[in-house]
Amino acid sequence: MSRAIVLVGPPGSGKGTQAGRLAGRLGMVQVSTGDMLRAAARAGTDKGLKAKALIDSGQLVPDEMIIDMLADRIDEPDTGNGVILDGFPRTLPQAHALDALLDEREMSLSNVIEIAVPDELIVERITGRFACASCGANYHEVYKKPARDGVCDACGATEFTKRKDDTVETVMRRINSYHDQTGPVLPYYSEKGLLASVNGARPIDEVTAALERAVE
Ligand code: AMP
Repeated sequence: MSRAIVLVGPPGSGKGTQAGRLAGRLGMVQVSTGDMLRAAARAGTDKGLKAKALIDSGQLVPDEMIIDMLADRIDEPDTGNGVILDGFPRTLPQAHALDALLDEREMSLSNVIEIAVPDELIVERITGRFACASCGANYHEVYKKPARDGVCDACGATEFTKRKDDTVETVMRRINSYHDQTGPVLPYYSEKGLLASVNGARPIDEVTAALERAVE
């Protein structure tokens, strides 16, 4: 039976980075609903265009839309060793849908890990983020600069982009939505005995080590 691990955390908690690392180490696949939505928006699909306006303004996309997208993604052939979900579920109805979706596929939810970061840290972390326009490698103006200024470490490209939803105003809205809409997901999993929490305010490698301990 293949398994699923869920990472829950506020914007800027490092869920994406950590999900990628964990997936690599455990031989599982990272599934980021945010990345899926941004790809759909770039591709200009109906769903993508509808999602784009919501993402850019810091609101969640409707549950039905994201649940369908996630189900399709889990049904792709590369998920046989399990999935690390990064950014899903973000609401209680999504958590319920995930239970049903995994049951139908005889997959089990083995861990839900909260990456906790205080609100004060989030704005600084997010507004400094940027990425290589060519390969998507992630950087930060203070915490993770490219070794050579203006040159991507991973692919050598010199063009960079920032996410449109990484502005102070939008981040504030995303933090509020995290507390109001995603907050109730934590007690739901805690009652099931699945929840662990790691301190996401520490350096990236320490958070990775804590996550690895949590999923052992
Ligand atoms: P992220 O890359 O995880 O920060 O997600 C970026 C944006 O995509 C969020 O602010 C939401 O607008 C949207 N999004 C991603 N995942 C979900 C989800 N599970 N439910 C609703 N909206 C989502």
